[in-house]
Amino acid sequence: MVTLIDTSALKPRHPEKANRPESVVLRKPDWIRVKAPGSPVYKETQQIVRENNLVTVCEEAGCPNIGECWSKKHATFMIMGEICTRACAFCNVRTGLPGPLDAGEPERVALAVQKLGLEHVVITSVDRDDLADGGARHFAEVILAIRAANPRTTIEILTPDFLRKDGALEIVVAAKPDVFNHNLETVPSKYLKVRPGARYFHSIRLLQKVKELDPTMFTKSGIMVGLGEERNEVLQLMDDLRSADVDFLTIGQYLQPTKKHYPLQRFVTPDEFKSYATVATAKGFALVSSSPLTRSSHHAGEDFARLKAARMAKMGH
Ligand code: SF4
Repeated sequence: MVTLIDTSALKPRHPEKANRPESVVLRKPDWIRVKAPGSPVYKETQQIVRENNLVTVCEEAGCPNIGECWSKKHATFMIMGEICTRACAFCNVRTGLPGPLDAGEPERVALAVQKLGLEHVVITSVDRDDLADGGARHFAEVILAIRAANPRTTIEILTPDFLRKDGALEIVVAAKPDVFNHNLETVPSKYLKVRPGARYFHSIRLLQKVKELDPTMFTKSGIMVGLGEERNEVLQLMDDLRSADVDFLTIGQYLQPTKKHYPLQRFVTPDEFKSYATVATAKGFALVSSSPLTRSSHHAGEDFARLKAARMAKMGH
C-alpha cells in the first residue's frame, strides 16, 4: 500500500530565513493590547474573503489589529498572490517564485468591496519583480474594477517600489487611486539588513514622482520603529518625505513575527510616538498617525476624511 502524504502544509513559511540566527522575541509591554478576533462581524468578513478566494495582508502579515478591523469589515486586500519575490527581514509574507496573475482577481476584489460595503478600501500587493511591469497593469485593473462596481468607494493603494520597471508607476497613477501609499519601512541606515532588495532614495523619488504626475493625488508613507533606528534618523527621514511633498506619515511599532525575523531592538514608548507626531506635524505633513499600533491601513477610511479636510483648510475653504 502506498500512503500519500500532503507535504505542502509541512513546508516552512520562510525557508529563506532558515539559516538566520534566532533571537528571543521580546514580551509585549502593557501598552500593546489588541481586541481578540472572533466577533460575528469578524466571521462575516472572513467568510466574504474566503468565498471570493482573496488574500489579505491582515492575515498574511499577522497584523495585531485584525480583531478590531475585521469587526468593522475593514480588510486590506493583498493582490497578485501570497508569495513575494523579495525577502525583507521584517516581513511575514512568504518568499518564493509566485504563480501567474489571476485574471479574475480584479472582479472578485470589486465584488468583495461591494459585499463589505466599504466606503474606503486599501489594496496592497506582494512584490512582483518577476513581471516585466512589476504588476502595474494588474494594480490598475483592480482599481478600475473597484471603481466600476463601487463608484462611491475611495481607493487607497499601498504599492511596492517597481524598482527597475520603467513606466510602471505611470500606469498605476493613470488609474487614479485617491491615495498613493508607498512605505519607506525604516531609516536608510537599516536598509541593507531590513529591506535588502530596496533602495531608500528610489522610494523617496517614487513618492515625489507620483506628485509630479498628479499633483491632486494624496501621497502617504510609513515606517516601523523599534528596529534600532536613532531619533535623529527618523527626523531626517521626515524631512526627506516632506521634500518629496508627501502628505501623510504613519509611524508604528515593529513587532517581530518569528525568532528568525529581524530582531526587535526595543518597544518605543507611547510618549515617544506622541513626540514624533508633534515634530512631524510641525514639519508640515497634512496628517500624521504615530502610535504603537499604527499600521498603514489602520483607520485608513477615517484618516482619508481627515486628509481631505486638512487640504481644504489649507486652501482656505
Ligand atoms: S491595520 Fe490594516 S492590515 Fe492590520 S488588520 Fe487592519 S486593515 Fe488589516
